[in-house]
Amino acid sequence: MKSIKPGRGPSMMGGIGSVIAALFGVFWTVMTLRMGVPFMAVFGILFVVMAIVQAVYNFRNATGKSRYSSFDITDSREEPDPLNMQFGGSVLPEERKQPAAGYCPYCGAPVDQQNYRFCPVCGEKLP
Ligand SMILES: [Zn+2]
Repeated sequence: MKSIKPGRGPSMMGGIGSVIAALFGVFWTVMTLRMGVPFMAVFGILFVVMAIVQAVYNFRNATGKSRYSSFDITDSREEPDPLNMQFGGSVLPEERKQPAAGYCPYCGAPVDQQNYRFCPVCGEKLP
């Protein structure tokens, strides 16, 4: 499995943006309490909590040794795609399909599998 990780520059920008968002949340909370609408202040507190979580996540990605992954790159052996199966794709992962008899499943060269244990073209072990 390979990963796509966020860049340190964009992560730092996101962290700074999250701090600004937290400050806005504090401002919102104070203003709504002063105007006498504590119901609206709840949203301000939730906003501050969300901004702090995002700030921690972004600053760790900007400065930490190991960054969190944005995307994981897998093939169907590691993790099949349920939607692909549901919408008519192969039920079995591509790699588990039975290769055509008489051909190397790795390079596609015509090979007599009775006489060869290894592909004479690419050298892979034949099934
Ligand atoms: Zn081969």
